[in-house]
Amino acid sequence: MTIVLIVLALLVLSLLLAFLRSNAALWSALSIVLAAAVGYAVGSAREALIAAIVLALLTLPFAIVPLRRALFSRSLLKAFAHALPRLSDTERTALDAGTVGFEAELFSGKPDWHKLLAEPRPALSAEEQAFMDGPVERLCAMLDDWRITHELADLPPEVWAFLKRERFFGMIIPKRYGGLEFSALAHSAVLQKVSSICPTASSTIAVPNSLGPAELLLHYGSEQQKDYYLPRLADGREIPCFALTGPYAGSDATSIPDFGIVGKGSWKGEEVLGLRLTFDKRYITLAPVATLIGLAFRLYDPEHLIGGVEDRGITLALIPRETSGLDIGRRHMPLNIPFQNGPVRGKDVFVPLTQLIGGPEMAGHGWRMLVENLSVGRAISLPSNAAGFARMAIASTGAYARLRKQFGLAIARFEGVEEALARIGGMSYLVTALSRSTAAAVDRGEKPAVTSAIAKYHATEIGREVARDAMDVHGGKGIILGPGNYLGRNWQGAPISITVEGANIMTRSLMIFGQGAIRCHPWVLKEMAAVAETDRRKALRDFDAAMFGHVGFGLSNAVRSFVLALSLGRLSNAPGDAHIQRYYRKLNRYSAALALCADVAMGTLGGRLKFKEKLSARLGDILSYLYIGSALLKRYEDNGRPEAERPLLAFAFHESIWRLQNALDGVIRNFPIRPVAWLLRALVFPLGRREVPPSDRLGRRVAAAITAPGPARAAVLEWCYLTPTPNHPVGRLHALLPDVVAAEPVERKLQKALKTGAIKAHDYLAQVDEVAQQGVLSAEEAALLRHVREAGAEFIAVDDFDPADLRAGAAARADVVAVAGGVTRVA
Ligand SMILES: Cc1cc2nc3c(=O)[nH]c(=O)nc-3n(C[C@H](O)[C@H](O)[C@H](O)COP(=O)(O)OP(=O)(O)OC[C@H]3O[C@@H](n4cnc5c(N)ncnc54)[C@H](O)[C@@H]3O)c2cc1C
Repeated sequence: MTIVLIVLALLVLSLLLAFLRSNAALWSALSIVLAAAVGYAVGSAREALIAAIVLALLTLPFAIVPLRRALFSRSLLKAFAHALPRLSDTERTALDAGTVGFEAELFSGKPDWHKLLAEPRPALSAEEQAFMDGPVERLCAMLDDWRITHELADLPPEVWAFLKRERFFGMIIPKRYGGLEFSALAHSAVLQKVSSICPTASSTIAVPNSLGPAELLLHYGSEQQKDYYLPRLADGREIPCFALTGPYAGSDATSIPDFGIVGKGSWKGEEVLGLRLTFDKRYITLAPVATLIGLAFRLYDPEHLIGGVEDRGITLALIPRETSGLDIGRRHMPLNIPFQNGPVRGKDVFVPLTQLIGGPEMAGHGWRMLVENLSVGRAISLPSNAAGFARMAIASTGAYARLRKQFGLAIARFEGVEEALARIGGMSYLVTALSRSTAAAVDRGEKPAVTSAIAKYHATEIGREVARDAMDVHGGKGIILGPGNYLGRNWQGAPISITVEGANIMTRSLMIFGQGAIRCHPWVLKEMAAVAETDRRKALRDFDAAMFGHVGFGLSNAVRSFVLALSLGRLSNAPGDAHIQRYYRKLNRYSAALALCADVAMGTLGGRLKFKEKLSARLGDILSYLYIGSALLKRYEDNGRPEAERPLLAFAFHESIWRLQNALDGVIRNFPIRPVAWLLRALVFPLGRREVPPSDRLGRRVAAAITAPGPARAAVLEWCYLTPTPNHPVGRLHALLPDVVAAEPVERKLQKALKTGAIKAHDYLAQVDEVAQQGVLSAEEAALLRHVREAGAEFIAVDDFDPADLRAGAAARADVVAVAGGVTRVA
């Protein structure tokens, strides 16, 4: 009996201490005292002494560090050295690059929310806001998307000139070199606004401000290179591109077969030491018009002219367009979003060593230079473009669903349409919060390797979901292309963002968890470093601390996961008001579950986990939705917890947690070691899966919020181009929305009058007049109905064309004429 009580008391104590994350010494001391106390209370002094001695023998080897090292850590260190997955040089470089931010807290199983809430609220400076209100607004007024995508297959010359003159290509370049030196947030805001009207223009602006010559020169360029090129890049005298991808190196960019061989050659009339380059690159954005080509290739030095090593590895150089032997200028056609994109090839192209970025000393460091800087651009460009599109989808679809009537009702009133509208509203709110969060991380000086991959993947995937829903709500209106169609090109172009800057399947399956697990984990990197340490004493010391820290961490997460699941998160600390405290608690619960599952997966599968991509992808989804949840809460808190945004927040949050739960369930359901899976299910879902997707009622509130003017709609339309200029149907549709809403009760009066059968007119406007004459409508009401009908006709209409106008490219040039039956012949 005494033994049973002691064991029970120790179990409760251990669970409590594990939940609270106490250390081994405290656990050992309290266990001894508790065993003795219970032994004495229910037994005798002798039993108390025996209990204390047994507990001391069992726990002290773990609590006394030198003893622990000698008994366990030494042999475990050896076993670890064999078991740890071998990292390739490429993987190591990727792991070493970048920084870790709040995502590490999410991986810790016990996030410290005060750290998140203490981060400053992101805001544009006065100068940045003036740029948004001035040059960006003027640029948007110049962008005729149909002319760009259908007639010119390019931006018109005046837009190119404007972009250069206003230094749109120099947002990341410091002022001392003539750039704008904007914050990441401002950079993101500019892209969002431009992409809300013209994806071709936003992609054109994004590339020079992302990873490419300017960014690389800023970090690694020699002073001479910076002084010469950066001012020219800032004002558009040089148009850059960056060429990495080729026919035989896509996702695995390290396998590029392109090469440069060190040797002498002629440059500007002089014989100099340089390199002779042979390469075949494709899909390169801005290449057809670029004047400065950033090129990645493998450098070989067979005659050891710049050092003792022959294969120097991946190296980066700047190739001026006029360099002889360069084959450049042809174009690809990326899904009718005609930003400049094309191949670049060269055979035996000679450039001096001074064209290497950073000079000869940076030879062979190309891969490191790329991965160190990839995350900053990836955190901004594609998430911002997706956010800009999502805002436009709300502006247009929210208003269109109110204007378009079927079966006598605005289509927004039908529950099926309402469901799609709710997703558009909630998921767009999510994308904008995500984009804002990664931009803010860059502004804090982070190089967010893991969260930039999360933002890239989820913003572009959700952007595609929003595009699908917006297309469905518009019906035929979204399908018929022409100047009046504001959606079709975005729908066509959605796969571009999915593929570039790390194709999405690979980003999800390999990168998010693959990097997140090691970089964000509090102990794994320390264990790996200890295993690699050559000083054996230090290795043992560090390994012991990391290993037992890790064991305690794992046990604590198992307990926290179970207890928080049973209490539905209620036993954890959470900030926030009554409305959002439960959201923090859910994140606490799933943070512990992620930490547990990640440890179990790494511990039981070891190096095999790298090849279990479906498992890795789902673990990455869990981390992603935790991060997205935190970004949503931060945005809401930063904005002063606005009541109007609550439905949007709730929808986005519940959908995220629902998706998180599905991913977690998928990990456990598919875990290859079944007994481990059973244990995980018991710890993570002791009460089953209880999260549910957003309810229909909540969806109705979100749909209502985005289909009527008001603070919620205004909040999600920040940084969306809304001016009703002649080139912008969405601006005009948005401007008409208040009248559309005001006209609805009047329209009902009209319909009621029509049902009486007393109205003889057939034409809508004549019916309005007749009903007004009968006194059923006031003059103002009739005028409102007429105005909405006339102004709204533009949005109900779709474009049609003379057949000759639709002939494109070679067919048009060859003067092909259409004949009956759709057969064509050359005239
Ligand atoms: C419009 C456009 C613009 C671009 N601009 C540039 C540019 O300016 N500069 C530049 O250098 N490149 C550019 N790219 C290239 C772009 O980065 C590549 O297309 C991308 O890296 C994918 O390569 P890939 O198309 O050859 O596909 P592949 O590498 O052949 O991939 C095919 C599929 O396999 C998946 N996959 C591959 N490996 C794995 C893996 N290990 N695990 C799971 N899935 C995997 C991918 O996710 C993808 O779905 C551009 C591409 C496009 C289409």
